[in-house]
Amino acid sequence: MKTNLNQNQTPMMMNQARVVSTGTTDNGTIQYDEVDETKRWFNRRFCFLSVIGLAVLLLAMVVIVIIVLLLTQLRAANANAVNVMSSSKTQMEELTRKLTQPLEQLGPTLEKLSNMPGIPGGFFPSTPQPSPGVPPISPIVTGPNTTPEPPRRSPKARYEWKGCQNVGKCELSGYNKPPLVILSLDGFAREYVDRNIVQTLNHIAECGVKADKVYPSFPSKTFPNHYSIVTGLWPESHGITDNSVFDPTISPVLESMKSTKYDKFFEGEPIWSVYKRKTGKKANCLFWVGCAYNNSGYPPDIAPAYNQELPFRNRIDMVVDWLKLPVDERPGLITAYLHEPDNAGHYQVADEDVDEKLAEIDDNLDYLMSRLSEEKLLECINFAILSDHGMQLIDKTYYFQDYLDLKGLITAKGVVGRFYINSTDISVNDVADKVRCKIESVKANTRADNPTRKHYSRDARVGEILLEGRAGITFYKSKEDDYELSGDHGYDYFNPKMHTIFFARGPSFKQNMTISPYQNVQYMNLWMNLLGIEGAVETNGTIGFFDNILTNPPRRENPTNVIGECPMIAFPSALNCSGNVEPQILNQLSAKLTSCAFSPSNIPLYSDKHCFQNYCENTVVVSRNGNNDKRRAIIEILSRDEASTPSNFTFVNAKYQNSCPDSVSPNSLTILKNSQLSSMADALLSLPNNFILKVMDPLQAKSIEYLNKYEKMYVISGTASDADHDGVADFNGSIITHIYRIFLICKSNWLSMNPPLCTDSDAMQTLSFIFPITEQSTIDCMSSDGVLLDYTATIFDVERIAGFQFGLGALTQNQNTILRRRISTELW
Ligand SMILES: [Zn+2]
Repeated sequence: MKTNLNQNQTPMMMNQARVVSTGTTDNGTIQYDEVDETKRWFNRRFCFLSVIGLAVLLLAMVVIVIIVLLLTQLRAANANAVNVMSSSKTQMEELTRKLTQPLEQLGPTLEKLSNMPGIPGGFFPSTPQPSPGVPPISPIVTGPNTTPEPPRRSPKARYEWKGCQNVGKCELSGYNKPPLVILSLDGFAREYVDRNIVQTLNHIAECGVKADKVYPSFPSKTFPNHYSIVTGLWPESHGITDNSVFDPTISPVLESMKSTKYDKFFEGEPIWSVYKRKTGKKANCLFWVGCAYNNSGYPPDIAPAYNQELPFRNRIDMVVDWLKLPVDERPGLITAYLHEPDNAGHYQVADEDVDEKLAEIDDNLDYLMSRLSEEKLLECINFAILSDHGMQLIDKTYYFQDYLDLKGLITAKGVVGRFYINSTDISVNDVADKVRCKIESVKANTRADNPTRKHYSRDARVGEILLEGRAGITFYKSKEDDYELSGDHGYDYFNPKMHTIFFARGPSFKQNMTISPYQNVQYMNLWMNLLGIEGAVETNGTIGFFDNILTNPPRRENPTNVIGECPMIAFPSALNCSGNVEPQILNQLSAKLTSCAFSPSNIPLYSDKHCFQNYCENTVVVSRNGNNDKRRAIIEILSRDEASTPSNFTFVNAKYQNSCPDSVSPNSLTILKNSQLSSMADALLSLPNNFILKVMDPLQAKSIEYLNKYEKMYVISGTASDADHDGVADFNGSIITHIYRIFLICKSNWLSMNPPLCTDSDAMQTLSFIFPITEQSTIDCMSSDGVLLDYTATIFDVERIAGFQFGLGALTQNQNTILRRRISTELW
């Protein structure tokens, strides 16, 4: 037994050893007679294992069947949820919760994603903080779903809503005051219109209005421009100077405007706030920049948290549903946002990538118009579609860290690279010297020398130094920071690729009208006009700009406070010339001055703070502030035939130069070269050599070139004080910081030179310049024409910095406004 037992046991033990060895070192040697035992044992095991294996297989099959069944059910539930979206709020909220949970877990990744260009709202926008007494926002969050955008509507069914026969004929009751809907298509460049893919826009324009092109505000980024569109303010005035902003009075770090928790960044009063404050009515907002913030006390009534996953169809349905609400719940204003074609533009490889998105947008816009038409809302609302900026292909990237030590600086990337100095040891010039004229095709401006027309100097939030390359150049802090986008925006609005769109129709708009180009700060006055609250807040636009596209514009008058003649100047005693004038000359002068008096109404400037002095060949405008005010303007009527040339800012005609000794020191220009002709007009202006070389000489050469070309010109030149860079004339004019010049010519014929008037009122052309007087600036490495073009300005810009208003009595208020706000994008 013992032996048997041992015999019996041995194979087992051996087998055990083998089994173990096969699994580990494979060092067992099996004897022949041991194999049978092993086989038997193995067969028993195998039989047992087979049974278990089969059971497991069966179980797996059952599980697969269950999973398939579950998936089918889920799909059906999902599809069902979309269908019942509007009717079942609870279901939608449930869906939202389910879908937002995984998003939140992806926190850090999404945070980085949300900081990328083209994504306007953070995934975690701050909850609006209503002011005391203001009811909180009740956000209706429609659930996102993973359903792809539906396929394009069949060609047959497209644009069925088009046609103008019913424009202005609202059949619904309770729509006496048409609700205003403003829809933004992020990054819809003006050039996309010419691709003729988004036909819906053309059909809207047939029965409404469109802009030839719209200039974005500088920089042409999403957040600054969306906020300019709803405040009427330039970014330097509303505080959202870029998608990321540094303001140490609010936060110690560069804050992303997509996710910041601080309401204080959002200055100015957006249209929804003004509308609610003035009318007490409702305003809803779907994803517009700034909706989630409340700096003014009147946030939108409904403003769902930003959710980029929400399909455009759902957004459109939401807007239409809002418009169908009963009158006391219905918003009178809706601002809505779609994030395309911006995304497509940033990552495009070829035009087709954007075109595909444009086709999708057309489909969605067609759907929107069809729904409005089906619901009979189309003729009952004022509806505007616009965009914030265009798109430029990127071909060159610079990294800040390759050019300077970034210690003590806060940097902001983008096509406008910005440096904030966050250390007291560094001066603006320290930084500017490192980059000024050091990077090929890149300008480096400080707040002080940035062109006035960009309106990007007033607020320290713009940064102390700005880098701006030619089209195609962009900046990052370092290579690791580089998103490697194929397209981007932010460029000067001079770049045609940055231009944007505007299409509108509704009972308040005329039909088939095209508006001449304008900048987007004009919109706010239009919104206020359409909502019946014109003038409720001041903007950087001009009231009445859009009058000629409105069916019922208000009557407006030109200003009446024409500049008057300065007291005492007409008397010969005022021309004492330090007592050096011979009586004979003085008498001649006196006789001349009394014979050629300007009629006050002929001067095209309006102000009660200025007066003019007439010297026959020209007229000098001075401030009534007193003798310490050194600001002067000279008005000249120049003719090539009379061999007259624009005054080199010597504000009295050269004819009188012999009368008084010339006391001008080298390198300075006298505003009144023979300075004692009139004590009131006496002013001496010292200019840096470099400024004379880079600005004054080229300006003078260009002026003579224009005179030769156009034969007759009306020219206003002057000096201005704007020490705080806000673009507005300082109260005290003792320090001259800028010079300006306005040219007026007639493309037709002059009807009159005094006042300036063309035979055809549309034929008057203007070109204006404002130059900051600087010792050293980025103009050192720019061409003469490049400098002149960069420092062009609108007449309106000159008005602000000079402190008077321009206007021609023979033109209507609207014609004057369009002339004053005309932006020149090229030299003559
Ligand atoms: Zn954008």
